[in-house]
Amino acid sequence: MVSRTTRIAIIGGGMGGLTAAIALTRIAGVRVTVFEQASRLGEVGAGVTVAPNAARVLDRLGVLEKIRAVGAVPDGHGVYLDAMGNMVTDAAWEDSARRYQNIGMYRPDLIDALAGEVDPDTVCLGHRLTSVEALDPGVRVAFENGVEEVFDAVIGADGIHSVVRRAVGQHPEPVYSGYIVYRGVVDASRLPGDWPMISQVWMGDSRHFMCYPLQQRKLFNFVAGIPSDRPLNGPWSGPAEVAELAAEFAGDGWDPRLHRFIEAIDQTFWWGLFDHEPLTNWSRGPITLLGDAAHTMLPHQGQGVNQAIEDSMALATFLAAADGVADIPEAFRRYTAVRMQRTAILQHGSRRAGAMFDAQYEFANLAKRDADIRVGRDFRRGAVFDYDAQKVAEQALTRFRKVQVA
Ligand SMILES: Cc1cc2nc3c(=O)[nH]c(=O)nc-3n(C[C@H](O)[C@H](O)[C@H](O)COP(=O)(O)OP(=O)(O)OC[C@H]3O[C@@H](n4cnc5c(N)ncnc54)[C@H](O)[C@@H]3O)c2cc1C
Repeated sequence: MVSRTTRIAIIGGGMGGLTAAIALTRIAGVRVTVFEQASRLGEVGAGVTVAPNAARVLDRLGVLEKIRAVGAVPDGHGVYLDAMGNMVTDAAWEDSARRYQNIGMYRPDLIDALAGEVDPDTVCLGHRLTSVEALDPGVRVAFENGVEEVFDAVIGADGIHSVVRRAVGQHPEPVYSGYIVYRGVVDASRLPGDWPMISQVWMGDSRHFMCYPLQQRKLFNFVAGIPSDRPLNGPWSGPAEVAELAAEFAGDGWDPRLHRFIEAIDQTFWWGLFDHEPLTNWSRGPITLLGDAAHTMLPHQGQGVNQAIEDSMALATFLAAADGVADIPEAFRRYTAVRMQRTAILQHGSRRAGAMFDAQYEFANLAKRDADIRVGRDFRRGAVFDYDAQKVAEQALTRFRKVQVA
Protein backbone atom coordinates (compact mmCIF):
# COMPACT_ATOMS: atom_id res chain seq x y z
CA MET A 1 0.00 0.00 0.00
CA VAL A 2 1.09 3.57 -0.62
CA SER A 3 0.37 5.82 2.38
CA ARG A 4 0.84 9.26 3.94
CA THR A 5 4.57 8.57 4.03
CA THR A 6 4.62 8.33 0.20
CA ARG A 7 5.70 11.76 -1.10
CA ILE A 8 4.62 12.81 -4.58
CA ALA A 9 5.48 16.09 -6.33
CA ILE A 10 2.94 17.54 -8.76
CA ILE A 11 4.50 20.09 -11.13
CA GLY A 12 1.92 22.71 -12.19
CA GLY A 13 -0.95 24.21 -10.22
CA GLY A 14 -3.42 24.52 -13.12
CA MET A 15 -6.77 22.77 -13.23
CA GLY A 16 -5.07 19.43 -13.90
CA GLY A 17 -2.47 19.70 -11.13
CA LEU A 18 -4.98 20.86 -8.52
CA THR A 19 -7.49 18.11 -9.36
CA ALA A 20 -4.67 15.57 -9.20
CA ALA A 21 -3.71 16.91 -5.75
CA ILE A 22 -7.28 16.41 -4.51
CA ALA A 23 -7.65 12.93 -6.07
CA LEU A 24 -4.26 11.62 -4.92
CA THR A 25 -4.88 12.83 -1.36
CA ARG A 26 -8.48 11.60 -1.10
CA ILE A 27 -8.38 8.37 -3.15
CA ALA A 28 -4.76 7.17 -2.85
CA GLY A 29 -4.00 8.71 0.58
CA VAL A 30 -0.51 9.90 -0.40
CA ARG A 31 1.22 13.18 0.56
CA VAL A 32 1.39 15.61 -2.34
CA THR A 33 3.28 18.86 -2.87
CA VAL A 34 2.21 21.11 -5.76
CA PHE A 35 4.91 23.29 -7.35
CA GLU A 36 3.65 26.22 -9.45
CA GLN A 37 5.88 28.66 -11.33
CA ALA A 38 3.52 31.65 -10.95
CA SER A 39 3.44 33.73 -7.79
CA ARG A 40 -0.28 33.00 -7.36
CA LEU A 41 -2.75 30.38 -8.57
CA GLY A 42 -4.88 31.85 -11.34
CA GLU A 43 -6.35 31.49 -14.82
CA VAL A 44 -7.21 33.62 -17.85
CA GLY A 45 -10.50 35.54 -17.67
CA ALA A 46 -12.39 33.22 -19.97
CA GLY A 47 -14.77 30.29 -19.72
CA VAL A 48 -14.47 26.54 -19.73
CA THR A 49 -17.13 23.84 -19.72
CA VAL A 50 -16.98 21.15 -17.05
CA ALA A 51 -18.55 18.28 -19.01
CA PRO A 52 -20.56 15.37 -17.51
CA ASN A 53 -17.56 12.97 -17.70
CA ALA A 54 -15.56 15.33 -15.45
CA ALA A 55 -18.55 16.28 -13.29
CA ARG A 56 -18.86 12.57 -12.40
CA VAL A 57 -15.23 12.56 -11.18
CA LEU A 58 -15.62 15.83 -9.27
CA ASP A 59 -18.76 14.44 -7.61
CA ARG A 60 -16.81 11.40 -6.36
CA LEU A 61 -14.10 13.74 -5.07
CA GLY A 62 -16.75 15.69 -3.14
CA VAL A 63 -16.29 19.03 -4.94
CA LEU A 64 -19.07 19.07 -7.54
CA GLU A 65 -21.72 20.94 -5.54
CA LYS A 66 -19.29 23.73 -4.77
CA ILE A 67 -18.36 24.02 -8.45
CA ARG A 68 -21.97 23.93 -9.62
CA ALA A 69 -22.86 26.67 -7.14
CA VAL A 70 -20.43 29.13 -8.74
CA GLY A 71 -20.93 27.96 -12.34
CA ALA A 72 -23.92 28.00 -14.69
CA VAL A 73 -25.93 24.92 -15.65
CA PRO A 74 -27.71 25.80 -18.92
CA ASP A 75 -31.50 25.60 -19.29
CA GLY A 76 -31.24 22.65 -21.68
CA HIS A 77 -29.45 21.34 -24.74
CA GLY A 78 -27.31 23.71 -26.77
CA VAL A 79 -27.79 24.46 -30.45
CA TYR A 80 -25.65 24.37 -33.57
CA LEU A 81 -26.87 27.04 -35.98
CA ASP A 82 -25.94 28.02 -39.49
CA ALA A 83 -24.55 31.51 -40.13
CA MET A 84 -28.05 33.01 -40.35
CA GLY A 85 -29.15 31.39 -37.07
CA ASN A 86 -31.17 28.50 -38.55
CA MET A 87 -31.06 25.33 -36.47
CA VAL A 88 -28.68 22.60 -37.74
CA THR A 89 -29.08 20.30 -34.74
CA ASP A 90 -29.27 20.33 -30.96
CA ALA A 91 -26.06 19.66 -28.99
CA ALA A 92 -25.46 17.00 -26.33
CA TRP A 93 -25.33 18.66 -22.90
CA GLU A 94 -25.89 15.85 -20.37
CA ASP A 95 -25.03 12.19 -19.91
CA SER A 96 -27.43 9.40 -20.93
CA ALA A 97 -28.56 8.90 -17.31
CA ARG A 98 -29.36 12.67 -17.14
CA ARG A 99 -27.43 12.85 -13.89
CA TYR A 100 -24.63 15.20 -14.96
CA GLN A 101 -24.93 18.26 -17.21
CA ASN A 102 -22.41 20.64 -18.77
CA ILE A 103 -21.46 23.41 -16.32
CA GLY A 104 -20.18 26.70 -17.71
CA MET A 105 -17.32 27.91 -15.47
CA TYR A 106 -15.45 31.19 -15.31
CA ARG A 107 -11.89 29.82 -15.19
CA PRO A 108 -10.72 31.85 -12.16
CA ASP A 109 -13.76 30.52 -10.23
CA LEU A 110 -12.88 26.92 -11.10
CA ILE A 111 -9.27 27.38 -10.00
CA ASP A 112 -10.44 28.99 -6.72
CA ALA A 113 -12.90 26.15 -6.08
CA LEU A 114 -10.23 23.49 -6.66
CA ALA A 115 -7.51 25.38 -4.75
CA GLY A 116 -9.88 25.70 -1.78
CA GLU A 117 -9.83 21.89 -1.50
CA VAL A 118 -6.01 21.65 -1.38
CA ASP A 119 -4.07 22.25 1.86
CA PRO A 120 -2.32 25.61 1.20
CA ASP A 121 0.75 24.38 3.08
CA THR A 122 1.27 21.82 0.30
CA VAL A 123 1.35 24.41 -2.53
CA CYS A 124 4.71 26.03 -3.33
CA LEU A 125 4.27 29.13 -5.50
CA GLY A 126 7.10 30.82 -7.40
CA HIS A 127 8.77 27.45 -8.09
CA ARG A 128 9.65 27.09 -11.78
CA LEU A 129 10.87 23.57 -12.48
CA THR A 130 14.10 23.41 -14.46
CA SER A 131 15.07 19.73 -14.23
CA VAL A 132 13.88 16.28 -13.19
CA GLU A 133 16.35 13.49 -12.49
CA ALA A 134 15.49 9.87 -11.69
CA LEU A 135 17.57 8.51 -8.76
CA ASP A 136 17.62 5.03 -7.35
CA PRO A 137 15.27 5.30 -5.52
CA GLY A 138 13.27 8.53 -5.92
CA VAL A 139 13.25 11.54 -8.23
CA ARG A 140 15.08 14.84 -7.75
CA VAL A 141 13.33 18.02 -8.88
CA ALA A 142 15.23 21.32 -9.19
CA PHE A 143 13.74 24.80 -9.50
CA GLU A 144 14.94 28.11 -10.95
CA ASN A 145 14.97 29.63 -7.42
CA GLY A 146 17.66 27.13 -6.35
CA VAL A 147 15.39 24.80 -4.39
CA GLU A 148 16.03 21.05 -4.90
CA GLU A 149 14.02 18.20 -3.36
CA VAL A 150 13.70 14.43 -3.68
CA PHE A 151 10.30 12.72 -3.92
CA ASP A 152 9.13 9.13 -4.29
CA ALA A 153 7.45 10.07 -7.58
CA VAL A 154 6.78 13.09 -9.83
CA ILE A 155 3.72 14.00 -11.89
CA GLY A 156 4.09 16.54 -14.70
CA ALA A 157 0.92 18.66 -14.90
CA ASP A 158 2.93 21.52 -16.38
CA GLY A 159 0.94 22.15 -19.55
CA ILE A 160 1.71 22.32 -23.25
CA HIS A 161 5.38 23.37 -22.77
CA SER A 162 6.00 20.67 -20.13
CA VAL A 163 9.52 20.26 -18.74
CA VAL A 164 8.63 16.92 -17.10
CA ARG A 165 7.67 15.53 -20.54
CA ARG A 166 11.33 15.65 -21.56
CA ALA A 167 12.22 13.46 -18.57
CA VAL A 168 9.98 10.72 -19.97
CA GLY A 169 11.74 11.00 -23.34
CA GLN A 170 8.98 12.81 -25.23
CA HIS A 171 9.60 15.90 -27.36
CA PRO A 172 6.47 16.50 -29.46
CA GLU A 173 6.44 19.36 -31.95
CA PRO A 174 3.53 21.78 -31.44
CA VAL A 175 1.20 21.59 -34.48
CA TYR A 176 -0.53 24.84 -35.46
CA SER A 177 -4.16 24.31 -36.54
CA GLY A 178 -4.24 27.24 -38.98
CA TYR A 179 -6.81 28.91 -36.71
CA ILE A 180 -6.86 31.50 -33.97
CA VAL A 181 -9.71 32.10 -31.56
CA TYR A 182 -10.91 35.38 -30.14
CA ARG A 183 -12.12 34.73 -26.59
CA GLY A 184 -13.45 36.62 -23.61
CA VAL A 185 -16.53 37.20 -21.48
CA VAL A 186 -19.55 39.47 -21.76
CA ASP A 187 -21.59 40.81 -18.86
CA ALA A 188 -25.06 39.24 -19.21
CA SER A 189 -26.69 42.60 -18.36
CA ARG A 190 -25.40 43.93 -21.72
CA LEU A 191 -27.50 41.35 -23.62
CA PRO A 192 -31.28 41.39 -24.25
CA GLY A 193 -33.19 40.07 -21.19
CA ASP A 194 -34.51 37.06 -23.13
CA TRP A 195 -31.05 35.88 -24.32
CA PRO A 196 -31.17 32.04 -24.13
CA MET A 197 -29.30 30.48 -21.19
CA ILE A 198 -27.85 27.71 -23.36
CA SER A 199 -24.79 27.10 -25.49
CA GLN A 200 -25.11 28.46 -29.06
CA VAL A 201 -22.70 27.90 -31.94
CA TRP A 202 -23.04 29.79 -35.24
CA MET A 203 -21.19 28.00 -38.03
CA GLY A 204 -20.36 29.81 -41.25
CA ASP A 205 -17.98 29.15 -44.09
CA SER A 206 -14.54 28.52 -42.49
CA ARG A 207 -15.34 30.19 -39.13
CA HIS A 208 -17.60 29.76 -36.12
CA PHE A 209 -18.73 31.65 -33.03
CA MET A 210 -19.77 30.04 -29.73
CA CYS A 211 -21.26 31.49 -26.53
CA TYR A 212 -22.60 30.02 -23.28
CA PRO A 213 -23.45 31.24 -19.75
CA LEU A 214 -21.03 31.25 -16.79
CA GLN A 215 -20.89 32.38 -13.15
CA GLN A 216 -24.51 31.94 -12.04
CA ARG A 217 -25.53 33.35 -15.44
CA LYS A 218 -23.96 36.74 -14.75
CA LEU A 219 -21.42 36.28 -17.56
CA PHE A 220 -21.34 34.76 -21.04
CA ASN A 221 -18.24 33.13 -22.48
CA PHE A 222 -17.48 33.57 -26.17
CA VAL A 223 -15.00 31.84 -28.49
CA ALA A 224 -14.74 32.75 -32.18
CA GLY A 225 -12.59 30.60 -34.49
CA ILE A 226 -11.01 32.33 -37.53
CA PRO A 227 -8.41 31.07 -40.04
CA SER A 228 -5.10 32.90 -39.64
CA ASP A 229 -1.35 32.49 -40.12
CA ARG A 230 -0.61 35.07 -37.41
CA PRO A 231 0.85 32.84 -34.63
CA LEU A 232 3.30 31.05 -36.88
CA ASN A 233 6.15 33.50 -36.32
CA GLY A 234 5.29 35.30 -33.09
CA PRO A 235 3.61 34.90 -29.70
CA TRP A 236 0.71 32.48 -29.27
CA SER A 237 -1.78 34.90 -27.68
CA GLY A 238 -2.34 38.58 -26.88
CA PRO A 239 -4.89 41.39 -26.55
CA ALA A 240 -7.00 42.05 -29.66
CA GLU A 241 -9.31 44.78 -30.92
CA VAL A 242 -13.05 44.06 -30.70
CA ALA A 243 -13.39 45.77 -34.11
CA GLU A 244 -11.12 43.08 -35.67
CA LEU A 245 -13.36 40.36 -34.29
CA ALA A 246 -16.54 42.18 -35.36
CA ALA A 247 -15.17 42.56 -38.91
CA GLU A 248 -14.79 38.76 -39.19
CA PHE A 249 -18.57 38.33 -38.71
CA ALA A 250 -19.79 41.54 -40.39
CA GLY A 251 -22.38 41.73 -43.15
CA ASP A 252 -25.85 40.42 -43.79
CA GLY A 253 -24.60 36.84 -44.25
CA TRP A 254 -24.56 36.52 -40.46
CA ASP A 255 -27.44 36.32 -37.97
CA PRO A 256 -28.43 39.78 -36.58
CA ARG A 257 -28.62 38.11 -33.14
CA LEU A 258 -24.93 37.26 -33.42
CA HIS A 259 -24.23 40.92 -34.31
CA ARG A 260 -26.18 41.90 -31.18
CA PHE A 261 -23.93 39.64 -29.06
CA ILE A 262 -20.74 41.01 -30.61
CA GLU A 263 -21.92 44.59 -29.92
CA ALA A 264 -21.95 43.69 -26.19
CA ILE A 265 -18.24 42.69 -26.19
CA ASP A 266 -15.93 45.33 -24.74
CA GLN A 267 -12.68 43.35 -24.47
CA THR A 268 -11.14 40.36 -26.24
CA PHE A 269 -7.92 38.36 -26.60
CA TRP A 270 -6.66 36.20 -29.45
CA TRP A 271 -5.20 32.71 -29.00
CA GLY A 272 -3.39 30.51 -31.54
CA LEU A 273 -4.73 26.97 -31.49
CA PHE A 274 -2.03 24.30 -31.19
CA ASP A 275 -1.96 20.63 -30.34
CA HIS A 276 0.56 17.83 -30.87
CA GLU A 277 0.45 14.27 -32.12
CA PRO A 278 -0.34 11.73 -29.38
CA LEU A 279 2.78 10.86 -27.35
CA THR A 280 4.21 7.36 -27.62
CA ASN A 281 4.68 7.08 -23.83
CA TRP A 282 3.74 9.10 -20.73
CA SER A 283 5.75 7.41 -17.98
CA ARG A 284 9.33 6.50 -17.17
CA GLY A 285 9.83 4.77 -13.79
CA PRO A 286 8.30 6.94 -11.03
CA ILE A 287 7.68 9.91 -13.38
CA THR A 288 4.43 10.42 -15.30
CA LEU A 289 2.34 13.09 -17.03
CA LEU A 290 -1.19 14.43 -16.80
CA GLY A 291 -3.41 16.98 -18.59
CA ASP A 292 -2.03 19.12 -21.43
CA ALA A 293 1.53 17.94 -20.67
CA ALA A 294 0.38 14.49 -21.80
CA HIS A 295 -2.23 15.32 -24.43
CA THR A 296 -2.70 18.91 -25.56
CA MET A 297 -5.80 18.91 -27.75
CA LEU A 298 -7.69 21.51 -29.76
CA PRO A 299 -10.64 22.99 -27.84
CA HIS A 300 -13.38 21.99 -30.29
CA GLN A 301 -14.76 19.18 -28.14
CA GLY A 302 -14.23 21.15 -24.91
CA GLN A 303 -12.29 18.22 -23.42
CA GLY A 304 -8.79 19.46 -22.45
CA VAL A 305 -9.54 20.16 -18.78
CA ASN A 306 -12.11 17.40 -18.65
CA GLN A 307 -9.50 14.86 -19.72
CA ALA A 308 -7.07 16.20 -17.09
CA ILE A 309 -9.81 15.59 -14.51
CA GLU A 310 -10.37 12.04 -15.82
CA ASP A 311 -6.56 11.48 -15.73
CA SER A 312 -6.50 12.54 -12.07
CA MET A 313 -9.11 10.00 -11.06
CA ALA A 314 -7.50 7.19 -13.08
CA LEU A 315 -4.05 7.97 -11.68
CA ALA A 316 -5.35 8.03 -8.09
CA THR A 317 -7.15 4.70 -8.63
CA PHE A 318 -4.02 2.95 -9.94
CA LEU A 319 -1.86 4.50 -7.20
CA ALA A 320 -4.29 3.46 -4.46
CA ALA A 321 -3.81 -0.15 -5.62
CA ALA A 322 0.03 0.06 -5.69
CA ASP A 323 1.85 -2.32 -3.39
CA GLY A 324 4.14 0.28 -1.80
CA VAL A 325 6.55 2.83 -3.27
CA ALA A 326 8.45 0.20 -5.28
CA ASP A 327 5.23 -0.57 -7.18
CA ILE A 328 4.60 3.04 -8.28
CA PRO A 329 6.33 2.62 -11.70
CA GLU A 330 3.95 -0.29 -12.44
CA ALA A 331 0.96 1.83 -11.34
CA PHE A 332 2.14 4.59 -13.71
CA ARG A 333 2.56 2.08 -16.58
CA ARG A 334 -1.01 0.85 -16.06
CA TYR A 335 -2.33 4.41 -15.88
CA THR A 336 -0.50 5.24 -19.12
CA ALA A 337 -1.82 2.17 -20.92
CA VAL A 338 -5.43 3.06 -20.07
CA ARG A 339 -5.32 6.82 -20.54
CA MET A 340 -3.19 7.09 -23.69
CA GLN A 341 -5.79 5.37 -25.84
CA ARG A 342 -8.69 7.43 -24.58
CA THR A 343 -6.95 10.77 -24.97
CA ALA A 344 -5.42 9.97 -28.39
CA ILE A 345 -8.94 9.35 -29.72
CA LEU A 346 -10.05 12.70 -28.33
CA GLN A 347 -6.98 14.54 -29.67
CA HIS A 348 -7.85 13.36 -33.17
CA GLY A 349 -11.59 13.86 -32.55
CA SER A 350 -10.95 17.48 -31.55
CA ARG A 351 -9.15 18.15 -34.83
CA ARG A 352 -12.04 16.62 -36.69
CA ALA A 353 -14.62 18.61 -34.70
CA GLY A 354 -12.74 21.83 -35.55
CA ALA A 355 -12.72 20.88 -39.23
CA MET A 356 -16.47 20.30 -39.03
CA PHE A 357 -17.37 23.58 -37.28
CA ASP A 358 -15.31 25.51 -39.77
CA ALA A 359 -16.32 23.46 -42.82
CA GLN A 360 -12.73 22.65 -43.71
CA TYR A 361 -13.86 20.26 -46.43
CA GLU A 362 -13.01 20.28 -50.08
CA PHE A 363 -15.27 22.94 -51.67
CA ALA A 364 -16.34 24.03 -48.12
CA ASN A 365 -19.28 21.63 -48.31
CA LEU A 366 -21.69 23.06 -45.72
CA ALA A 367 -24.36 20.38 -46.27
CA LYS A 368 -21.83 17.64 -45.47
CA ARG A 369 -20.68 19.63 -42.43
CA ASP A 370 -24.24 19.88 -41.10
CA ALA A 371 -24.84 16.15 -41.60
CA ASP A 372 -21.57 15.26 -39.81
CA ILE A 373 -22.42 17.52 -36.86
CA ARG A 374 -25.78 15.75 -36.43
CA VAL A 375 -24.07 12.34 -36.31
CA GLY A 376 -21.32 13.56 -33.95
CA ARG A 377 -23.83 14.64 -31.31
CA ASP A 378 -24.66 11.05 -30.29
CA PHE A 379 -20.99 10.01 -30.19
CA ARG A 380 -20.36 12.88 -27.82
CA ARG A 381 -23.05 11.80 -25.36
CA GLY A 382 -22.19 8.09 -25.40
CA ALA A 383 -18.44 7.91 -25.79
CA VAL A 384 -17.42 11.17 -24.15
CA PHE A 385 -20.02 12.15 -21.52
CA ASP A 386 -20.94 8.64 -20.27
CA TYR A 387 -17.28 7.63 -19.67
CA ASP A 388 -16.60 6.71 -16.05
CA ALA A 389 -12.84 7.15 -15.49
CA GLN A 390 -12.86 5.47 -12.08
CA LYS A 391 -14.83 2.45 -13.26
CA VAL A 392 -12.63 2.00 -16.34
CA ALA A 393 -9.49 2.11 -14.14
CA GLU A 394 -10.96 -0.41 -11.69
CA GLN A 395 -11.93 -2.78 -14.53
CA ALA A 396 -8.44 -2.47 -15.98
CA LEU A 397 -6.93 -3.26 -12.56
CA THR A 398 -8.94 -6.49 -12.46
CA ARG A 399 -7.63 -7.42 -15.92
CA PHE A 400 -4.02 -6.56 -15.01
CA ARG A 401 -4.29 -8.74 -11.86
CA LYS A 402 -5.66 -11.70 -13.85
CA VAL A 403 -2.74 -11.44 -16.28
CA GLN A 404 -0.32 -11.34 -13.30
CA VAL A 405 -1.84 -14.49 -11.75
CA ALA A 406 -1.77 -16.33 -15.08
C1 LIG B 1 -9.83 28.65 -26.52
C2 LIG B 1 -9.75 27.47 -25.61
C3 LIG B 1 -10.94 26.98 -25.07
C4 LIG B 1 -10.92 25.84 -24.27
N1 LIG B 1 -12.09 25.36 -23.77
C5 LIG B 1 -12.08 24.22 -23.04
C6 LIG B 1 -13.31 23.68 -22.52
O1 LIG B 1 -14.41 24.22 -22.69
N2 LIG B 1 -13.23 22.52 -21.82
C7 LIG B 1 -12.05 21.89 -21.58
O2 LIG B 1 -12.07 20.83 -20.94
N3 LIG B 1 -10.88 22.40 -22.03
C8 LIG B 1 -10.87 23.54 -22.75
N4 LIG B 1 -9.68 24.05 -23.20
C9 LIG B 1 -8.41 23.33 -22.91
C10 LIG B 1 -7.94 23.63 -21.50
O3 LIG B 1 -7.79 25.03 -21.29
C11 LIG B 1 -6.60 22.93 -21.21
O4 LIG B 1 -6.69 21.59 -21.61
C12 LIG B 1 -6.30 22.98 -19.69
O5 LIG B 1 -6.11 24.30 -19.25
C13 LIG B 1 -5.08 22.14 -19.35
O6 LIG B 1 -4.90 22.12 -17.95
P1 LIG B 1 -3.50 21.66 -17.34
O7 LIG B 1 -3.64 21.84 -15.86
O8 LIG B 1 -3.12 20.34 -17.89
O9 LIG B 1 -2.45 22.67 -17.95
P2 LIG B 1 -2.35 24.25 -17.75
O10 LIG B 1 -3.68 24.86 -17.55
O11 LIG B 1 -1.51 24.76 -18.87
O12 LIG B 1 -1.57 24.41 -16.38
C14 LIG B 1 -0.20 24.15 -16.28
C15 LIG B 1 0.33 24.82 -15.03
O13 LIG B 1 1.70 24.47 -14.87
C16 LIG B 1 2.45 25.64 -14.60
N5 LIG B 1 3.80 25.39 -15.12
C17 LIG B 1 4.19 25.30 -16.41
N6 LIG B 1 5.51 25.07 -16.50
C18 LIG B 1 5.97 25.00 -15.22
C19 LIG B 1 7.26 24.78 -14.65
N7 LIG B 1 8.35 24.59 -15.42
N8 LIG B 1 7.38 24.76 -13.30
C20 LIG B 1 6.29 24.95 -12.49
N9 LIG B 1 5.05 25.19 -12.99
C21 LIG B 1 4.88 25.20 -14.33
C22 LIG B 1 1.71 26.75 -15.35
O14 LIG B 1 2.03 28.03 -14.81
C23 LIG B 1 0.26 26.35 -15.12
O15 LIG B 1 -0.26 26.86 -13.92
C24 LIG B 1 -9.68 25.19 -23.99
C25 LIG B 1 -8.48 25.72 -24.49
C26 LIG B 1 -8.51 26.85 -25.30
C27 LIG B 1 -7.22 27.39 -25.87
